[in-house]
Amino acid sequence: MRLVDDFRNSDLAKGLIGSIRRSSTKHVRLMEFCGGHTVAIMRHGIRQLLPSTIEMLSGPGCPVCVTDNADLDKAIALARLPEVTLTTFGDMLKVRGSRSSLQQARAEGADVRIVYSTLDALQIARQNPSRKVVFLGVGFETTAPTVAASILQAEKEGLQNYYVLSMHKLCPPVIKAILDSGEVRVSGLICPGHVSAVVGSGSWDFIARDYGIPCVVSGFEPVDILQTVHMLVGQLEKGESRVEIAYRRGVSAEGNKRALEIMYQVFEPCPARWRGVGAVPGSGLGLRDAYRRFDAEAAFEFDPGPTVEPKGCICGEILRAIKTPRECSLFRSVCTPANPVGPCMVSSEGSCAAYYLYGAADD
Ligand code: SF4
Repeated sequence: MRLVDDFRNSDLAKGLIGSIRRSSTKHVRLMEFCGGHTVAIMRHGIRQLLPSTIEMLSGPGCPVCVTDNADLDKAIALARLPEVTLTTFGDMLKVRGSRSSLQQARAEGADVRIVYSTLDALQIARQNPSRKVVFLGVGFETTAPTVAASILQAEKEGLQNYYVLSMHKLCPPVIKAILDSGEVRVSGLICPGHVSAVVGSGSWDFIARDYGIPCVVSGFEPVDILQTVHMLVGQLEKGESRVEIAYRRGVSAEGNKRALEIMYQVFEPCPARWRGVGAVPGSGLGLRDAYRRFDAEAAFEFDPGPTVEPKGCICGEILRAIKTPRECSLFRSVCTPANPVGPCMVSSEGSCAAYYLYGAADD
């Protein structure tokens, strides 16, 4: 029996659903921040199992989706430089910027390579000393420590041709920005499991304390998510707001101190632009002065051109949880996973892709 089987056990799931149904009397709106949770909720049909008192909202926790078009344009312009080899995770390839995508740039001759980790990117740099190898740093606190570690490794080896274009984002500041905007009413927050494994559940204390919103850190299996909903409903019914962990096998209050140390040794918080949300202070990660020589943005001259948003695409509103994919006039008709218009249809963690693949039961 695999560990994961316990978290897909139908008897446990039925017990939790019954308990949620019995205890939920108030109308509440629960937001899952993480795209991984959005996909799991859709795939397992969890919305259909919950009572009508519980409304589920999807937040901006998909790193590919929240990468702003201006940043995508930078990556594409960098990839088109003749001396550059751009390395990236596969999800980024099909996402369109203002005029093109990395996939299109590659078809037109740019040296764009898919890697599975920064170890691959470092190896490409070692094996191709005449090329300038740039790693496209897209991701949250889960990814940034590994990218920081690659920079430390490159420094240790004296690699002169390795660079990072840092588009990393930090999650707590953007949640604060969304709550401060007052655009969306959230009763309870399903906190991201993997991000919390790094930053610690204590990073969400300010939400429970300052906004009176209960927070529960969740895993990604159906029983994890139902347990999380059960715990949130329990707090909401009693009028409480605190941070709890329903994902104890992965998350502690303190997080992964070593990963955070490495991340903050190399990077420091800086402003970042989020698709749909705009500029959020302290929500990005820029290279510290001591590691500036690895900064692709500083090392190369390139012109990303003016930023243009995809016409008719409402990814921004979906990422702010004020609209759902079905409210997009292009959903399923023009925009599909085979022909994506916006990033939320490209990414495996995007809401539009999740609704497309698993949303039939919702219709
Ligand atoms: Fe954008 Fe496509 Fe989603 Fe519409 S369905 S919001 S066009 S990604």
